[in-house]
Amino acid sequence: MKSLHIVAAGAGGNTGSHLLPHLARMSCVGRLTLVDPDSYEAGNVGVQNIDASDVGRPKVVVQAAKLRGIRPDLDVMAWQERIEDVPRGLLRSDLLVSCLDSRRARQELNEIAWRLSTPWLDCGVLGSQSMARVSAYVPSYDSPCLECSWNAGAGGDYSLLEQEYLCGAGDDSKFPSMASSTLGALAASLLAIEIEKFSRTDSPGPLGSQQLILDAEHHVIQVTAERRNPWCRFDHRTWAIEPWKCDPAVATVREALRALGSLQVDGHHFVSELVCAGCGRRENAPRLNRPLARCPLCNRRMASAGFGSLERLKREYAGEFMDLTLAQVGLRPGDILSSGNRHWLLVEAP
Ligand SMILES: [Zn+2]
Ligand SMILES: [Zn+2]
Repeated sequence: MKSLHIVAAGAGGNTGSHLLPHLARMSCVGRLTLVDPDSYEAGNVGVQNIDASDVGRPKVVVQAAKLRGIRPDLDVMAWQERIEDVPRGLLRSDLLVSCLDSRRARQELNEIAWRLSTPWLDCGVLGSQSMARVSAYVPSYDSPCLECSWNAGAGGDYSLLEQEYLCGAGDDSKFPSMASSTLGALAASLLAIEIEKFSRTDSPGPLGSQQLILDAEHHVIQVTAERRNPWCRFDHRTWAIEPWKCDPAVATVREALRALGSLQVDGHHFVSELVCAGCGRRENAPRLNRPLARCPLCNRRMASAGFGSLERLKREYAGEFMDLTLAQVGLRPGDILSSGNRHWLLVEAP
């Protein structure tokens, strides 16, 4: 019997809150990593699998407690942050599962799945049309990815993606999902059944590179095969990842540059000139653009005031910052550092 490690992104929402209890009841699931930045709001109770007493609490905390209630021996990790801010090495698993509600976050998970060569299952609901969908992706250079079917034209996926960036759509507190609890539960069941099948096969699941759509309104089930789009904007590259042992709280930028050549964390860049909106304190040091550290004086989050940002930290730019530790520039254990075509997983070691 397999013991799968599954990462669930968007873990606590309309579909995720219905999915997780199923996963806890499956003996093939040994470990769950939950990722969701949000907390429950009063409006969620009517459409998600939660209790009124959960309102105000972080979704991953609520869900982790429920999972342990169902199966006390289940290994559960919970990250209350956006999927793109979690060090990618911590997402290495047997299967990535997405219950996300924004294109941008799905696009991020698609890239993560390819980089880590990990199959991923996506699900979604279309509340207005009573449709539930499950899609399966098996990363390789030649297999179809999420973006292969994206439309580049006006009104297509990429222009909608830009709108999400501009107005922050996908944040379900501002744009409540049209989906009912029943539809979320339906999508969750379809997804859970595919996960069960995945656990029984050595290949990445019978639904590999296909999409299943159930139209509950008209009682129609549709399965479509996806195709690799030669014009896809995503590069479809997978990574060979080597371990690099260090303690980020002690190892310096200088040591990392000497060992690896340059420092780059895919999906992020380094910002400088941090400023606190509360007390005006300024710091000038490169920092990875995750939610930035808090101001040591007034505890508000620092923001970047500089327009310049660096994708890659090299010896010639690191100058006066060579003696900062990796933790001080925002790196965490589990981060994957890239230099050219080589990729290193930052493994915490004393
Ligand atoms: Zn593609
Ligand atoms: Zn301050």
